[in-house]
Formats: sequence, structure tokens, C-alpha cells
Amino acid sequence: MIGQGLVDTFHRKINYLRISITDRCNLRCLYCMPEEGVPLLGHESILSFEEILRVARVAIAMGITKVRITGGEPLVRKGLTSLIEELAALEGLRDISLTTNGVLLEKMAEELKRAGLKRLNISLDTLKADVYQRITRCGDIKRVLAGIEKARDVGFSPLKVNMVPMKGVNDGEILDFVAFAQDKDVEVRFIEFMPSREDEWRREAIIDSVDIIKTISSAYELTPLAAGEDAGPCKLFEIKGGGRCGVISPMSEHFCDTCNRLRLTADGKLRGCLFSEKERDLRSILRDEKCTDEAIAEVLRGAVHAKPEGHKYDESEDSSKNGGFKMSRVGG
Ligand code: SAM
Ligand code: SF4
Repeated sequence: MIGQGLVDTFHRKINYLRISITDRCNLRCLYCMPEEGVPLLGHESILSFEEILRVARVAIAMGITKVRITGGEPLVRKGLTSLIEELAALEGLRDISLTTNGVLLEKMAEELKRAGLKRLNISLDTLKADVYQRITRCGDIKRVLAGIEKARDVGFSPLKVNMVPMKGVNDGEILDFVAFAQDKDVEVRFIEFMPSREDEWRREAIIDSVDIIKTISSAYELTPLAAGEDAGPCKLFEIKGGGRCGVISPMSEHFCDTCNRLRLTADGKLRGCLFSEKERDLRSILRDEKCTDEAIAEVLRGAVHAKPEGHKYDESEDSSKNGGFKMSRVGG
């Protein structure tokens, strides 16, 4: 029966679907992609919007209430606004959010807001133009800053900025980002760096969230906030003098026992965990001409059932040793 709710083997209620709509990106962030990019999926391998909407409809009937669109860079996929519009029209979906690098946001913020997008996270790891160039290998920070302004102007609130501090790259900017949060009225979320490739970006670049908080507390008074419904794994703080910031600790403090997520990759695989290689192929089911909603529901249930109790980042062949888990395909 489709409408039975999604609860995994460890009694976690699954109500949040993250959908990667493309593996393509207009940046090449050091920690996410090699400079030359990743081998791209063929057009026919990527789920169409009709297929994504069909999965979303069934997932909502099973208890999914929140969807986040991610990638790759979601703003590079043509027709994104109409996908958001159609998702927003689905009864039962309480929240649609999107994560973007912000490069195309100045142009698109208004249409996204009008289409019904509720929340926006913008990734920005530095406030310095030269460091931005180094991290993204090709980006122009001015476009992202203009995108943030525009998103705020059209009414995305609270606007969230994701910053990944890395030793030796941008760790000197943590306090600048807190000032930025106050100044621009955005919520800055510091995310622990997750090394995912066999190169210079290894464990020594990780900055523990405890150290991030220590750095902030050296200059600002922080008051912890009670975990709100939309905080997810983020520990949030009120900054004395105005503004909020938070930390997300996928490395130092797993938040697996409260994980409510399921992920749909750009090529139609369902994953219970960012770090787990276990995937269920939904695309082949969707493309079978006899595909019923019940068949889709069965794959969703299977993926939820296979959701691991916790992530084994340290033991994961793919993530920490050969770095094969591709954030751009799975969706960060
Ligand atoms: N392109 C969009 C963007 O950059 O916001 C959406 C996809 S990106 C994969 C989603 C998030 O994953 C970004 O905030 C990015 O900083 C984060 N991310 C990617 N690789 C990461 C890594 N190795 N460690 C921590 N965060 C990472
Ligand atoms: Fe692109 Fe986002 Fe990955 Fe950077 S983090 S390369 S913007 S997908």
C-alpha cells in the first residue's frame, strides 16, 4: 500500500527527499570535482522532469513532506523553474528548497521565488576574490555576491550561506563570515570538510566544528538555539549583536540517528546515505512501460529499508580511500 509512511529498520521516519537534477556544474570546486570535471552522464541517463515528478508524487503519498533540489549545479539545468512550479503544486509537499553555488542566481532568484521555491542555500567558501578563484578554479565571486543580494531582495528569508572551512585555504575567514552573517542578514552554516578525493584534500584540511565554535566564541558571544524543525543536522546559535550561525559536523559528530533523508541521484538511483554505495535503480523501473506507482513505491521502500544505521565514512573504500563518491552526482 502506497500511503503507509516510510519508516526504516532503525525506527527513523523518512520524510525528506534530496533530488540531484544534474551532474553538470559551472564551477570546479577543489573538494568536489577534478579540474577537468567528471565524466558526464549522457542526456538519456539523467531523469527527465516528468520522471522526477512521478517519483515525487509517489514519495509524497508515502510521507515525504520536504524536497531539496541539488546537483551538480541545479541552476544550469534548463526548465528548472517549471520543475519548481510543478513540485510546488503537489499537495502534501510542505517545503521545497534548493542548494546552489549562486553564480546564476542574480538572473534567476526572482523567477524561482515566483515559482514557489521556499528556501535557498548558497554555497560560498570565501569572501576573497582570489581565494574564490582558487577554490572554484573558475568562478567570479562578484556574481555570487550579487546573487545573494538579489535573493534577499526578492524575499528569500532566512537566506542560508554554506561555508566549508579548510585548513590552509580559508580557515582565516571564519570570523569574517560571522560579520558577513550580521551585515547581510544571512544565516551562515559552517560545514565540516569531507575529504572525498585522493589528492591534497585529505584529513589534515578538516576543521572540527568544535574548533569552529571556539574561533567564533573568541570574538562573539553565542547562544545555542533550540533545534527547530528545519535545522536538520545544523547546530544553530544566536550571535550577540544580531544574526545567526551554525555548524554541521558530518565528520566529528555523526547525526545519523536522526537522519530523515533519502537521496535521488541525477541518474535515478535511490540512496539511503550520502556515504553508502548501496543504491537502488529507480530509472529502469520508471522506464519500463508497465511501471506502476506501486512498483516505484516498492523501490522507495527498499531504499528506506536498506538505509544504514550510520555512515562508515572511515571505513568506506569509496569515500575516503579512492575518493570515488562524487558529490556532484549524488547531490551534496
Ligand atoms: N552546486 C551546488 C552548490 O555548490 O551549492 C549544489 C551541489 S554541492 C555538491 C552541495 C554542497 O556540498 C555545497 O554546499 C558544497 O560546499 C558541499 N560539498 C561538496 N563537496 C564537499 C566536501 N568534500 N566537503 C564538504 N562539503 C562539500
Ligand atoms: Fe559545483 Fe557545487 Fe561541486 Fe562546487 S560544490 S563543483 S559548485 S557541484
